[in-house]
Amino acid sequence: MQQDKQKRTAVYVAFIVIALLVLAPTISAARGDILKTAGVPGVQDMNKITRPGNDPAGTLVKSAIDEKIAEMKEKITKIDIETEKKGSVDRLQAMKQGIRSRGVQAPLKGVRIVLDPGHGGANPGAVGVNGSREADNVLQTSLKLRRLLEEAGAEVIMTRSTRADVRLPGQPGVSQLRVRTVIANKSGADLFISIHNNSNPDPKVSGAMTFYKRGSTQSRAVARTVQREMVRATGARNLGTMDAGYYVLRNNRLPALLVETGFVTNAREEKRLVDPTYQEKIARGIYQGIVKYFHQQNKTK
Ligand SMILES: [Zn+2]
Repeated sequence: MQQDKQKRTAVYVAFIVIALLVLAPTISAARGDILKTAGVPGVQDMNKITRPGNDPAGTLVKSAIDEKIAEMKEKITKIDIETEKKGSVDRLQAMKQGIRSRGVQAPLKGVRIVLDPGHGGANPGAVGVNGSREADNVLQTSLKLRRLLEEAGAEVIMTRSTRADVRLPGQPGVSQLRVRTVIANKSGADLFISIHNNSNPDPKVSGAMTFYKRGSTQSRAVARTVQREMVRATGARNLGTMDAGYYVLRNNRLPALLVETGFVTNAREEKRLVDPTYQEKIARGIYQGIVKYFHQQNKTK
């Protein structure tokens, strides 16, 4: 009886020892396999991380996995951002290329224009029925036109960009008109354009017109596109184009225009000429006319 009991205990102990010897490496390997199938890189050999006895609860393994997962997530986010960035750059490049080939964005690239807001300083130009000054109205319109021209890639030389007189440095005695043509003639520009308001003793007279340098075919061509587009943009009465011998046209070596945007002596038109929205329409019309002219020029070249 006693012998039997001892025998049974011995078998029991042997069984437990064998079981432990067989199962321990299997469990350990299984841990590593689970991590491998989870696709977590750098944890192929989890046995190195989990030393039995050191980490019985497996907390080291858990925190190592969490760390790796966090690292992977971060990498994925970075890749996403890079891909997104690259996509935007590609789209931008394609857009730029398209614009360049169509010439939409910079239709006046390489064009230089002298822009002359009439009068200024002590010379108010025509004074409207409601007291507006031509010099101020045309300055505001010209500044809007300058912005459009520059946005289209043109280089713009202003004879004045403030309410002050047009001056040549060191030559205060030179007349207001002569200064403008001196600036134009040494500019090397492609076009001179002077912006004005008109006046008439008859308050009923209204409308827009464009004068151009007498005998100049180029001046005539640009006057026509400018006048057509200005009238289209503003809805002003079309008084057409006409050659003229005004000082700034006559003494100009460039193709030259003098644009009369409307009559300040007509109450209704004066109200428009001082209105920034209407000024923007005038500017846009003149701008369109200039773009059309240079587009034609490039075609015939
Ligand atoms: Zn004037």
